[in-house]
Amino acid sequence: VKSIGPDPDPTPYLYVTNEMKLKDLAKPYDAKKDCWIPHDHEGYIIGQITGTKGELVSVNALGMTNHWKKEQVSQVNPPKYEKTEDMSNLTFLNDPSVLYNLKCRYTSRLIYTYSGLFCIAVNPYKRYPIYTDRAAKIYMGKRRNEVPPHIFAISDNAYSDMLLNKTNQSMLITGESGAGKTENTKKVIAYFGSVAASAKKKPGDAKNLEDQIVETNPILEAFGNAKTVRNDNSSRFGKFIRIHFQVTGKLSGADIENYLLEKARIVSQGKLERSYHIFYNIMSNRLDYIRSMCKLTNDIYDYHYVSQGKVTVESIDDAEDMMFAHNAFDVLTFTEDERDDVYRVTASVMHMSNMKFKTRGREEQAEANGTEAGEIIAELFGVGMEDLYHNFCKPKIKVGAEFVTKGMNEERVLFNVCAMAKAIYDRNFKFLVKKCNQTLETGLRRIFFIGVLDIAGFEIFEFNGFEQLCINFTNEKLQQFFNHHMFVLEQEEYKREGIQWTFVDFGMDLQACIDLFEKPMGLLAIMEEESMFPKATDKTFEEKLTVNHLGKSQPFVKAKGNAHFGINHYAGTVNYNITGWLEKNKDPLNDTVVDQLKKGENHLLIEMFADHPGQSAPAEKAGPGDKGKKKSGGFKTVSSSYRDQLNNLMTTLNATQPHFIRCIVPNETKSPGLCDARLIMHQLTCNGVLEGIRICRKGFPNRMVYNDFRQRYVILALQEFNEYFDCKKASHACLEKVGLEAEKYRIGNTKVFFRAGVLGELEEIRDVV
Ligand code: ATP
Ligand code: MG
Repeated sequence: VKSIGPDPDPTPYLYVTNEMKLKDLAKPYDAKKDCWIPHDHEGYIIGQITGTKGELVSVNALGMTNHWKKEQVSQVNPPKYEKTEDMSNLTFLNDPSVLYNLKCRYTSRLIYTYSGLFCIAVNPYKRYPIYTDRAAKIYMGKRRNEVPPHIFAISDNAYSDMLLNKTNQSMLITGESGAGKTENTKKVIAYFGSVAASAKKKPGDAKNLEDQIVETNPILEAFGNAKTVRNDNSSRFGKFIRIHFQVTGKLSGADIENYLLEKARIVSQGKLERSYHIFYNIMSNRLDYIRSMCKLTNDIYDYHYVSQGKVTVESIDDAEDMMFAHNAFDVLTFTEDERDDVYRVTASVMHMSNMKFKTRGREEQAEANGTEAGEIIAELFGVGMEDLYHNFCKPKIKVGAEFVTKGMNEERVLFNVCAMAKAIYDRNFKFLVKKCNQTLETGLRRIFFIGVLDIAGFEIFEFNGFEQLCINFTNEKLQQFFNHHMFVLEQEEYKREGIQWTFVDFGMDLQACIDLFEKPMGLLAIMEEESMFPKATDKTFEEKLTVNHLGKSQPFVKAKGNAHFGINHYAGTVNYNITGWLEKNKDPLNDTVVDQLKKGENHLLIEMFADHPGQSAPAEKAGPGDKGKKKSGGFKTVSSSYRDQLNNLMTTLNATQPHFIRCIVPNETKSPGLCDARLIMHQLTCNGVLEGIRICRKGFPNRMVYNDFRQRYVILALQEFNEYFDCKKASHACLEKVGLEAEKYRIGNTKVFFRAGVLGELEEIRDVV
């Protein structure tokens, strides 16, 4: 792990200090009276129970007594659990206790906490010295329970599990925008780079593999990240990076799969946002040859596509970032031509904002209105300028077996220019990933891999469109994967311990929602079909969805507000607005221009469009019955490619041992140490942490090996523990003696298992003795 400057002591940021512990233990606590009640601002506060009457509990808090329903009141954990490292050990596993524990740790600068299978990371919004070499050393070769919670602990465990069990591993990092997914992903990759550095240099060149893997990041971030309202460095695409290892555990390569780059941003930005960093990196003129090669002026406002919002960001040094990206191209062995073509293509997107058109007379036919921009673009593209305008204004389309010229009005032409700019940028991004992958294909044997998924978490916005649908469907699948995994592990543990208990597969809880998307005539199939059908409109699409699913598929519900339908996801109901989905899904391009680019002189453009059929695509008039034919022509909708990618991802993940990391934004103001209770609770719901706890509570969440049980509870049954040499028998006798109902615990082979909250009862009994 690369660290710069002095190596300060990380331990105050990792461990609860003795001082803290003493303070926590001294806190007043009344096991019988203390309880959590809901509170508007704090989320929950502690009150004291003063009485109960039927279903109502009277609680005194902040000098007032109020009455609450029983289910609104939760028990408080004893002080010894303050700032606990793994919340699954809590005696009382309830929402308020989870929030409280995370909050206490976070304000004490402890940003990582476990909740069973999850590692939760709360964004510190401050650089703590916890990712240094010195910090990494604490974690190397250690099991999870030997060291404080950390992303390094998870990484190290994944690494040793891989070598020990000879299985591929995956690390699933999700969370809201700004939660810290990408920061954590970078740390994971740096960690593997350092523990598994290839001893030898790659044969034949001087660049070492670990550097190359790390250096993919400046490129991906320059071209795929942008400033948004929530995050100055927001990733506008998802990614799955696989780090490959040799049989010895040394690195042997890597590959990256990227998902859906946000394309709208390429041509428009909100007032407080920016387009992709690279545009402003180039305009910083840190490398002046780029601007002159690309014939760019020195004024970003000359380029409308990229100057509708902010153009500088306080936390970003565009000149410095330009050099990071530029050097990374070198490390990743892009040739100078390839690299410069990438700059040319990027700049051409900016120039495309200046293509002007006009309509003459009453004809609905657009034509060029000045060719200044077109000249530069044509030069960068390596094509003829006049043809370029002609092809934009009068494209050829295939009708039956013939080509005819189609007249286009100004609005249509401008739309096509936009679409072309977006397609070019998007394909350029894919090229960058492909090129990185080629370099990271070293020829060394790939025996195992650890895959790291950095993908947006569940999103519930005011307005939810096509992007939200894709990301939420993905998260539904990932949550099902988690639930199923948890079920399998629990089941295995119960079996190992010889415990009688049949669990239902928790993954099945999400099946109805997943079916709604996936089944024949499900949401995705209908969208696909409508996208193929030329006469389809948003209206017909909406009707088809409603007719097929409203009242028939349980998760499909009537929309609320400015939306067309709602879906009950595990994380909550989301109302989707389908305006423009079909268009987005078809993502049409002017094929005549595509053909021209493919015949031009810019090698990068030729490569980028190699898989585009251009005008050889089948005729426009296909109806729904012609679906098969359309596909064979190479035409694929956005949703169907995404679905293929997602299926691939799930197949890959299913064959790995997974590790789950959940990142949390603590507040909306990027302030270190500040906790917004509602914001955090909402995320814990969306990211499955509370779902994980819910599942936990269905079984026997608390477990103790018999020796530990004896140590703690020997005073409840001195005689029994004396009598039986066998600690298991003695423990069983002890539990029977204190009169705990059999349903509340299980006697396993090496451990005793308890239902949620039962340990609390035992503690009370112990207190009385
Ligand atoms: P998006 O979905 O928008 O890409 P993200 O979850 O990837 O968001 P990051 O870009 O990783 O979020 O984090 C946002 C910012 O929060 C970072 O630029 C950094 O300033 C801060 N940050 C996140 N995690 C950490 C950390 N562990 N230590 C210090 N700062 C952090
Ligand atoms: Mg990110």
